Amino acid sequence: MTAPETPRPTRITPFPNGELGVVWEDGHQSIYEGYALRCACPCAACVDEMTGMKILDDEQVPKDVKPLEIHPVGRYGISIVWSDKHDTGIYTFIRLRKLCPCCDR
Ligand SMILES: [Zn+2]
Repeated sequence: MTAPETPRPTRITPFPNGELGVVWEDGHQSIYEGYALRCACPCAACVDEMTGMKILDDEQVPKDVKPLEIHPVGRYGISIVWSDKHDTGIYTFIRLRKLCPCCDR
């Protein structure tokens, strides 16, 4: 049983050019630029857990950063191993859907 407001991907595809494609249960398709997704990493090394302030300096992220591996995290999200060796961020499906570039609200 899934609440309707919890989006779930049916397919996640890392493209060779560094983009990440996600097909959602409701048929929506998202294409994420690798760099933008990496800069949105929510882990404790990138975002201060207490204040919610971003610590990560986008300038330090390689512009051509790519997702190398995608791992499921429970039933609610994914973790991404990046080509810059960063792998601690967990992208929940809710957050990932909010990050969708074409759904920018
Ligand atoms: Zn991070």
